[in-house]
Amino acid sequence: MISEKVQRIGTSPTLKISAKAKAMRAEGIDVIDLSVGEPDFPTPAPVKAAGIKAIEQDFTKYTENDGIPALRKAIVERLREDRGLVYAPNQILVSSGAKSSLFHLIQTLIDENEEVIIPSPFWVTYPECVALAKGKAVIVPTREENGFLLTPEDLKAAISPATKALILNNPSNPTGAAYARAELEALAEVVRGEDIYVVADEIYGKLVYDGFEFLSFAALGEDIKKKTVLIDGVSKSYSMTGWRIGYAAGPAEIIAGMSRMQSHTTSNACSISQKASLEALTGPQHEVGRMAAEFARRRNYCLMRLAAIPGLSCYKPRGAFYLFPNVKAYYEKEFKGAAIRNSYGLAYYLLREARVAVVPGDSFGADDFIRLSYATSMENLEKALDRIVRALAELKTAKKAKRVALTNVTTRVRKAVPVEAGVDAKLRDALVAEVEAPLGRPPVYEWNANINGVVVQLRTNVAHLHDFWVENWFPAQLEADLEPHGVIYAADGIAGREPRAFYNSETKTGILINTDNYGPLRSLALGLVTDYAERMFGVHAVRGMSAAVDGQGLILIGPAGTNKTELLFGLLADPRFRLHSNDLVLVRTSGGKALADAVERKLYMPTVTVEAYGRLAPLFDDSKCENVVTRKDDCDDQECQSDEDCRLDRGSPFCYKASKAGHAMLDPAWLGGRGAYARRMTLRWIFLLRNDPVSPTCVPLDREEALRILESGEPIGLKKAAAGKAQPYFNPHLLVASPERLDMQKAYFRRLLESTGCYLFNSGVAGAEKLIEIVTGQPS
Ligand code: PMP
Repeated sequence: MISEKVQRIGTSPTLKISAKAKAMRAEGIDVIDLSVGEPDFPTPAPVKAAGIKAIEQDFTKYTENDGIPALRKAIVERLREDRGLVYAPNQILVSSGAKSSLFHLIQTLIDENEEVIIPSPFWVTYPECVALAKGKAVIVPTREENGFLLTPEDLKAAISPATKALILNNPSNPTGAAYARAELEALAEVVRGEDIYVVADEIYGKLVYDGFEFLSFAALGEDIKKKTVLIDGVSKSYSMTGWRIGYAAGPAEIIAGMSRMQSHTTSNACSISQKASLEALTGPQHEVGRMAAEFARRRNYCLMRLAAIPGLSCYKPRGAFYLFPNVKAYYEKEFKGAAIRNSYGLAYYLLREARVAVVPGDSFGADDFIRLSYATSMENLEKALDRIVRALAELKTAKKAKRVALTNVTTRVRKAVPVEAGVDAKLRDALVAEVEAPLGRPPVYEWNANINGVVVQLRTNVAHLHDFWVENWFPAQLEADLEPHGVIYAADGIAGREPRAFYNSETKTGILINTDNYGPLRSLALGLVTDYAERMFGVHAVRGMSAAVDGQGLILIGPAGTNKTELLFGLLADPRFRLHSNDLVLVRTSGGKALADAVERKLYMPTVTVEAYGRLAPLFDDSKCENVVTRKDDCDDQECQSDEDCRLDRGSPFCYKASKAGHAMLDPAWLGGRGAYARRMTLRWIFLLRNDPVSPTCVPLDREEALRILESGEPIGLKKAAAGKAQPYFNPHLLVASPERLDMQKAYFRRLLESTGCYLFNSGVAGAEKLIEIVTGQPS
């Protein structure tokens, strides 16, 4: 299993989008890429020549770890000439790109749990870099109306005893914001009074516009210089991104630490690139100015075009080569009936419909925005903006749902559909071929969900399935990601076919035919994710309802009829308990602990739950619902039918009680704010449920007994009629139940039971109060 810290980080979204744009171009689709963070100019000829000469002279061996002396000297000179900063050569470290400088710096400065202040919008790499050092990123939002500048007040408020550093990116990627002298001085004043370092990423320092005077943070005084490590490189200013040369300048002690680290990571940066960079820094500098002038021209052009787009605002950048327009006005608008909800949705729409690649603002911690790079030719920019203008104009304001009653969809299919899970590759291909035509190419609706790190793509022609899918899961970092881990095709309207689900484990493909109900789709997705996560991540699914108290969790496992829901809501009535999941959790056992993650963004919850928990009614009223009964004819509640007093007769527009197949997509935060909802907990207690009037309330189980009950999945103490049939591990989402798979389940549960207590709990004689007493040691 890979380490938790690496599991938590994602691939740089900018790299992923550029890769997607390249792949689309290779398929012959004419995409314009505005996602790239590199100048489109060639590396200057003398610089290239210096590189070639280095090869010819066999300058192709290891160099000094810290960089060749001539290059370090050239950096010292540049910093003196350009920024008025005086450094000794032992205060300079050359690395393989500024990214590598930054990585070594953060590793050198930060210990576990130390805090690093990062103003947002931020460059995507900062938080990940801090996470890899096991530090804590403290994100401090800046505001568009303040020109995205960190204010001294906000900086001061963010500093705690655990703060070790501030990362100040000036000029900024993605906003292009840059700090004028007075603005920097004000921040320096705060830094002076605190024991913190400043990581000054000034890689765009030479790319500033409209006569803006760039000032280095380290230039604010000798005291400030002692607390600052400057990061720069040749990538952006000399159009040398692929050469991979960056550097750090700062206090000798820190540089020496970074250097020791580098001696074990990359050693010296590429010898050839160092020679080329030496030429870049010591040769004529006019190319830099020429490039900056061209960027200014492009920036002005793009700003003019963006200004003409209704509802959109855009900060006028002082530097770098990005624009960061606020596109919030376009959220909740729709295209072909599908709503654009956030920056991912808009970026995806622009890629698909306008064939322009941009980066969603959420990657930079600002979801109301998208990032466009103007480091591409004027011709490309003109074409791209034409396309963006046209595509945005095509978005229609979503029809306001009439607030008469409820956002409700009635589906044709109401029940679980038969699943054929052992589909082989040949049948899989035939089925995919069969559904691809009705789905269209590309399909009408397509969305990548991120289900605990497993990216599952839905392709469907059913608007409702797409809608619930988007509500149900967290979005994958990029909807247009190249390769999802699994794909589900959900095609409706296929002549001559019964509702049916198919699954091929090898390719992680699910196929749902003629099914417009969300339940079977969700179940197929959970099955796919479980199948994948078990094999690839060593993470396994446990089906049950779960709640946390002080980060410690319990899970209730048992078939229908064992009062799971009643017990769960009983627990939640105690303010110490937080909801975790109402159906399934993914568990990872490591270091003698079992960590359980809730996987859903919104919970697919049966609306009949309202009968027992009336307080859910207003929440369901505001949720998206499926199959809530709105006409008496659709009511199948026998008991109610014979009753004179029917809600629907009394004029109520809908009835949850009558809706046996009804579900709502409930935002768990509505149950009492974010604090009432836990996404991760340490699993400590497993309660296997039975329901009879005579057995003891709670019996501790040894591991083998617990495994036996789990494996058989037999309901205990329930009347046969009420119980339904046995299900291994009580998990209908298992899909593949081959002997090998079941062995794997057993091994996983065996391991889980090593770090958890397991009890057989009789819900026929006791309720949530008893559970609370067992887990907290105190009465409820
Ligand atoms: N800092 C910032 C703010 C950047 O945008 C980039 C490149 N996107 C870098 C550092 C890294 O540059 P490189 O590793 O290419 O030198």
